[in-house]
Amino acid sequence: MSALIEEVNKRRTFAIISHPDAGKTTITEKVLLFGKALQKAGTVKGRGSNQHAKSDWMDMEKERGISVTTSVMQFPYNDALVNLLDTPGHEDFSEDTYRTLTAVDSCLMVIDAAKGVEDRTRKLMEVTRLRDTPIVTFMNKLDRDIRDPMELLDEVENELNMACAPISWPIGCGKEFKGVYHIHRDESILYQSGQGHTIQDQKIIKGLENPELEAAIGEELAEQLREELELVIGASNEFDLELFLDGQLTPVFFGTALGNFGVDHMLDGLTEWAPSPMARETEDRKVEATEDKFTGFVFKIQANMDPKHRDRIAFMRIVSGQYSQGMKMNHVRIGKQVNISDAVTFMAGDRERAEDAYAGDIIGLHNHGTIQIGDTFTQGEKLKFTGIPNFAPEMFRRIRLKDPLKQKQLLKGLVQLSEEGAVQVFRPLINNDLIVGAVGVLQFDVVVQRLKSEYSVDAIYEGISVSTARWVKCDDVKKFEEFKRKAEANLALDGGDNLTYIAPTMVNLNLTQERHPDVVFMKTREN
Ligand code: GDP
Repeated sequence: MSALIEEVNKRRTFAIISHPDAGKTTITEKVLLFGKALQKAGTVKGRGSNQHAKSDWMDMEKERGISVTTSVMQFPYNDALVNLLDTPGHEDFSEDTYRTLTAVDSCLMVIDAAKGVEDRTRKLMEVTRLRDTPIVTFMNKLDRDIRDPMELLDEVENELNMACAPISWPIGCGKEFKGVYHIHRDESILYQSGQGHTIQDQKIIKGLENPELEAAIGEELAEQLREELELVIGASNEFDLELFLDGQLTPVFFGTALGNFGVDHMLDGLTEWAPSPMARETEDRKVEATEDKFTGFVFKIQANMDPKHRDRIAFMRIVSGQYSQGMKMNHVRIGKQVNISDAVTFMAGDRERAEDAYAGDIIGLHNHGTIQIGDTFTQGEKLKFTGIPNFAPEMFRRIRLKDPLKQKQLLKGLVQLSEEGAVQVFRPLINNDLIVGAVGVLQFDVVVQRLKSEYSVDAIYEGISVSTARWVKCDDVKKFEEFKRKAEANLALDGGDNLTYIAPTMVNLNLTQERHPDVVFMKTREN
């Protein structure tokens, strides 16, 4: 096997999806502990304390206790090399989350077992279904009183339309939580409370009929476990690798992230079954991960990740081949050769200079304003990866300076922030207004705060009667010119100079669409 194939095959690139508070941060911390990336759990984030996740880069999220950014952490586990992509939890940042999900090959779904399938999980699962991403499930918080495990599986099956294959099964819960029975290994693994900050020495009892089980968990629980298992194994699906890889079946693990119990079983399953880096579609052809030539796409741009490095980083998913330091890449959109000498990797949260990276890895490129979300890089071939969307914003405000002399700075700041994809900026054709569009309210605050700290610009918002925006295009040049003339008062350019129709009301949008049937009005745009 070639060295490239070997490197690619051992990579597992995944993200965690969950509803806020289900335990994503806690499980990330334990996963890093197993990956030997943290010396001691408890250093990722303590809300309300002074400790924050390595992934919590911005002051804002520290103040609000939310993850605004997407971070990347790489660590070895078993024979695999794992890339974990963090996704922002707050729903105002869901665009970032959507795009991050285009850069992974599998997902871990964390469910609060006291609550079951919640709203945000449902939404994120819809996104993963678009690409049939394989899902591993972790039922969390078994140290609390949870819902009937069988009912939880039913809920996942019915609401998320995905078969469940339990790999482990809980023995009691809440104060009576004793551990899990690992169905594939035919062993009971016993839980000790209060050991969540370490990798525990676990007591393992082989076989379900082993009398040691009675001694350890009592006769009643042992009997109950055997009865439950008979039912569960009869009624639920067996694990099937093909169905899992197809996104139709999810292996389910039970445990407690806080107690660091069961997380290793999940990681074992994920590294064994989750796919190594998968092929990605371009406009012309599919690119396989093991192709010799390097290709990659940018799914996120982030500024100011670390106060020590005040720069902007473009996150690139390597789709095929290998990156090595100093290599030349073709920046396809602008048709230029660029020399990449100082890409960064994200080994366990600390940025290091990447020497080599392979398909499936994420590298960070220093961006001086030439890279946009969705950009493709290759070793020469003209390719364009597809499926990395921008969404039309749903909230709009006019932004104005307190000091009018800084207009140029303001525009520069807004265009750069819009390249990151968190907000969009629109410049009407007929006046000098600047309109900021966002998918969620919180993003407006982020923009003003960052304009101040990164561009020394004091800006304020004013209300504006805009209800929606659509990117427009038309194959018929003449008809497009006519449309542009008639609709000029409502047309604007976005940060990437794409023509956009800014609609004061939905009624107006509908009427305009009826009047110009040849013009295409788009809710999403791929760069
Ligand atoms: P996130 O919002 O999904 O990142 O959730 P966090 O990891 O921040 O967890 C939310 C809350 O649930 C925190 O107070 C955690 O300490 C708590 N928590 C997480 N996992 C467990 C668990 O297994 N058991 C219990 N009892 N609490 C947990």
